[in-house]
Amino acid sequence: MADSEKRLNTMINKLRENNCRITPQRLAILKVLAASEGHPSVEKIYEQVKPTFPTTSLATVYKNVSTLRDLGEVLELGFSHESSRYDGNNPHPHPHLVCTGCKKIIDPDLESLKVVTRELTEETGFKILNHRLDFFGLCPACQEGAQA
Ligand SMILES: [Zn+2]
Ligand SMILES: [Zn+2]
Repeated sequence: MADSEKRLNTMINKLRENNCRITPQRLAILKVLAASEGHPSVEKIYEQVKPTFPTTSLATVYKNVSTLRDLGEVLELGFSHESSRYDGNNPHPHPHLVCTGCKKIIDPDLESLKVVTRELTEETGFKILNHRLDFFGLCPACQEGAQA
């Protein structure tokens, strides 16, 4: 089973446990979130769902995303000057790489984060529960665009 399918099933089960009905419209929103291609904003999710469900409103998408965030099934990445972006593919805290050019956000494989976390624990005695780690820069495609 593909990763996003597994995520979709987990989300559906979690919603059912919390007595939420899985309507076709809600399922469409869940599918976009389960894949979380590029970490979409609510507006982006809305754009993807609207062609199939023209009666969907931005408020409905927002409500669905908030519910899943509150259930711990979607990770919200808040930015001070831009819309929040969402990761339903990996709802656990993880570092992000943000392209300031095309606004794409990817999940880097950062093995050394485990070492850093251990160092922090040893140094401060903190039990680390969460972290926010965003790297900002220009992706390879945007770097080429900048040179042209
Ligand atoms: Zn870019
Ligand atoms: Zn992510």
